[in-house]
Amino acid sequence: MARYTGSVCRLCRRENLKLFLKGDRCYSDKCAFDRRGYPPGQHGQRRGRKASDYGIQLREKQKVKRMYSLSEKQFRLTFEKADREKGITGTNLLVLLERRLDNVVYRLGFVNSRAQGRQLVRHNHFLVNGKKVNIPSYRIKVGDVVEIKEKSRAVQAINDSLEAVVRRGIPQWLELDKETMKGAVKAYPVREDLTMPIQEQLIVELYSK
Ligand code: SF4
Repeated sequence: MARYTGSVCRLCRRENLKLFLKGDRCYSDKCAFDRRGYPPGQHGQRRGRKASDYGIQLREKQKVKRMYSLSEKQFRLTFEKADREKGITGTNLLVLLERRLDNVVYRLGFVNSRAQGRQLVRHNHFLVNGKKVNIPSYRIKVGDVVEIKEKSRAVQAINDSLEAVVRRGIPQWLELDKETMKGAVKAYPVREDLTMPIQEQLIVELYSK
């Protein structure tokens, strides 16, 4: 699968929003977006032309896709599933993205970013309902319990992120037992739980063309 290997800070600067792709660094004064909050590239500081409707919709889609560190194909397939489900497509899309296992381990504070979550899920560091799951796109369900494997509790990246979660907080649709390091899914998130500045209807408009 094609994977973006360039500077992720460029993505925040392009989308004009902190996407929190680099863990601890995003909260420090080294954050590239805080230091250079204009688009990357030679002409980044020039005043750009007014964006077209298509341009605005495209940027919104790119922003969400990059926030969850997905490829175009993965994002498109998630959208198609959201479209087939009952309810509001845009909200369905965000809920499906939140239910990904790599996102849940990030939300629970087991990792510092979704990209790191994907890598550690791939490397078999987590259990879902006591069973090994190494598929980052695995969709968690209400009542599922996600935990760090006993042997993996000493992994440095996991320990670092557990300290950082105090700053991020845990969403109310999840519950973390810090003693046992188990996270439970209490409910699916509702739109009000997802406080990121996303206008999901723009993505629906883009894909409905
Ligand atoms: Fe984005 Fe984090 Fe880089 Fe800041 S440090 S620009 S929030 S990825």
